[in-house]
Amino acid sequence: MISFGIDIGGTFVKMVTVNAQGKILRQDKFKTPTHLSSKDFLKFLADKINTWVQKLKIKKAVIGVGIAGDTDHKKGILRFAPNIPWKNLKITSGLENLTGFKSFASNDANMAAFGVYKKEIKSKYKNVLVLTLGTGIGGGIIIDGKLYQGATGTAGEFGHIKIGDTQKGNICGCGARGCLEGYIGTNNLHRLTLKAVKENKESVLSLLLKKESFNVKILSIAAKQKDKSALLIWEYFALYLGLGIANLILSFNPEAIVLSGGVAGGSKYFMPHLKSILKEQKIKEPFRNVKVMLSKMKDIGAVGAALYALSEMNEK
Ligand SMILES: [Zn+2]
Repeated sequence: MISFGIDIGGTFVKMVTVNAQGKILRQDKFKTPTHLSSKDFLKFLADKINTWVQKLKIKKAVIGVGIAGDTDHKKGILRFAPNIPWKNLKITSGLENLTGFKSFASNDANMAAFGVYKKEIKSKYKNVLVLTLGTGIGGGIIIDGKLYQGATGTAGEFGHIKIGDTQKGNICGCGARGCLEGYIGTNNLHRLTLKAVKENKESVLSLLLKKESFNVKILSIAAKQKDKSALLIWEYFALYLGLGIANLILSFNPEAIVLSGGVAGGSKYFMPHLKSILKEQKIKEPFRNVKVMLSKMKDIGAVGAALYALSEMNEK
C-alpha cells in the first residue's frame, strides 16, 4: 500500500508518497493556487496525484491531507482557515471521487504531530504531546499510540490555552487575551525585542536589528554574545512556555513532550530555565518522568498525513 500525504498551507502545498514502512518515495512542493475555486483546487490536487500514480505505477493507495485550518476530521471537511480562501471544502469526498482512493483529512498541526510520533520518535513512547513553536503555537496529542482529536477535531490547540488574564493579558492571534500564544508566539517575542532595543540602543540586539528584520535567530545570536536583554527574553519565553507545559503535563501525564518549529532552535537559551520551572512543580512524579525533547525534522506535516492515512486504513 502506498500513501499520499498532502500538507496544505496558505503559501505552499507539500506532497509526498510513502510506502507502508513510511519510506519517502517522492516529494514535491508547489504554490497554493489560491486563485482557484474550491472545485478546481480539488481537481488540481487530484491531477497531481493521478500523475504520480501513473509515473510510479501505483495500484493501491490512500490519501492523507493536513490543512492549516479548522478541520472536521470525521467528515473530512475544512470548515474555515484564516489563510486559505476555501470554506466548507469537502476534501476527502472530493479527492475520493476524483482519484478513487480512500482519503483522510485533519488539521495540519495534528498531522505534523503524528509524523513526529511515527517517524521521528518511532513510537518509542505511547503518550506524547507535540508543541509547535512559531508565529502560531500549535500541537497534537498522542494517547496510547493514537492521535487524539477530540469531539470536534479541535484537541491540541495549545496556543490558545489560557495562562494569562483574559481581560488584561497579552493579545493573541485569535483575538483573545491571555492565550499562551500571546506570550510565546513570535509576534510577542518581536514586541519584546523592540521594547528592549528602545531601552538600550547600543546593545548587541539593537545592532543586529539594524542589519536585518526581526527573526527569532537574532535572539539566539544575541544571547550567544551574552546580550542581557536577549537572555532575559529567552528567560521570559521559558517561564510562559513552562506554565503552559506544566498545565499540559498535569492534564495528560505524557511520557514525552516534543518541541518543534523555528523557535525551538533557541533551546540552548530557554531549555535550562524551562527544566528548572518543571522541576519546581510540587506534584513531582509526572514532571520527573517526562522527557522534553526537540524535533529535528522539517516539513514533517505531509509525511505525517501520509502515515496517518495508513494507520487509519489499518484500523478499518
Ligand atoms: Zn488565542
